[in-house]
Amino acid sequence: MKPAPFDYVRAHSVDEAVRTLAEADGDGKILAGGQSLMPVLALRMARPRVLVDVNRIPGLATITPTGSDVRLGALVRHARLVEQPHHPLLAEAARWIGHTAIRSRGTSGGSIAHADPSAELPVVAAALEATVHIAGPGGTRAETATSFFAGPLETTLAEDEMITAVDLPVPSRWGFAEFSRRHGDFGLVLVVAAEVAGRWRLAIGGVGGVPLRPAEAEQLLNDGAEVDAVAAAAAAETQPQSDIHASADYRRAMTAEFVRRALASHGKRAAA
Ligand SMILES: Cc1cc2nc3c(=O)[nH]c(=O)nc-3n(C[C@H](O)[C@H](O)[C@H](O)COP(=O)(O)OP(=O)(O)OC[C@H]3O[C@@H](n4cnc5c(N)ncnc54)[C@H](O)[C@@H]3O)c2cc1C
Repeated sequence: MKPAPFDYVRAHSVDEAVRTLAEADGDGKILAGGQSLMPVLALRMARPRVLVDVNRIPGLATITPTGSDVRLGALVRHARLVEQPHHPLLAEAARWIGHTAIRSRGTSGGSIAHADPSAELPVVAAALEATVHIAGPGGTRAETATSFFAGPLETTLAEDEMITAVDLPVPSRWGFAEFSRRHGDFGLVLVVAAEVAGRWRLAIGGVGGVPLRPAEAEQLLNDGAEVDAVAAAAAAETQPQSDIHASADYRRAMTAEFVRRALASHGKRAAA
């Protein structure tokens, strides 16, 4: 199928992008890498009246270490994350995103905005309690990833707002483990374990509507409990759905196993 007709606007600044979205009055969509939006348009699951192409806005494609964080501009392509030396957890997670063509076009801002609970960047952002920087017609705001993800493919972004950057703390130790049926597929289950400022956090993707932060499992981990107890607690905190890819029970069992694997690899150290 082909998309329904739309007007195309190439924005040259963040102000122009959010103003155009505001003028579209809820009927506009940002176009970044197009790797999630274009299939949705082609299937006519969305029919925006205006597409606002943000690819030519200067200054949004930078990766900047800022003290204990790394700031990702919204237009940083996934392929660049794999190569960057500042945030090894991010580099590892980005390797699991789709295939070469998808990583070449897909952007950090697009992935966070799309908010797929099985996607790597939202799960990393949730684990690290990343700060999402957002611009709208009334100014800018910042929100923590944990509250930003509101449901499957749902965020707190207003229709006339755009993500400009995401700040991700660099963990001192971390582990990442993902299971997908074929390399490049979305994960059935993916787990991030990250130690930030002396405290471990866990985030699990593929087991609910948003990346899950299993509070009890995190507490056990920080109290020095056995890995098996942490893994069992994490699995018990999931609320996975059965679908054509896997049953809920299978996802729960895989959660326990992949928490174990993420923790087994947690000796990895972030670059200074
Ligand atoms: C075959 C295939 C396999 C894939 N596999 C994976 C995978 O394994 N893991 C994974 O994480 N992803 C995967 N993806 C998705 C891919 O990573 C996308 O690039 C990403 O989800 C969206 O980024 P994008 O830049 O392409 O955004 P777009 O497709 O351009 O936009 C996606 C949505 O985000 C909005 N948006 C985009 N940028 C912004 C912004 N700056 N501010 C506010 N809203 C914005 C758009 O309006 C739209 O609603 C896959 C895609 C395909 C087609």
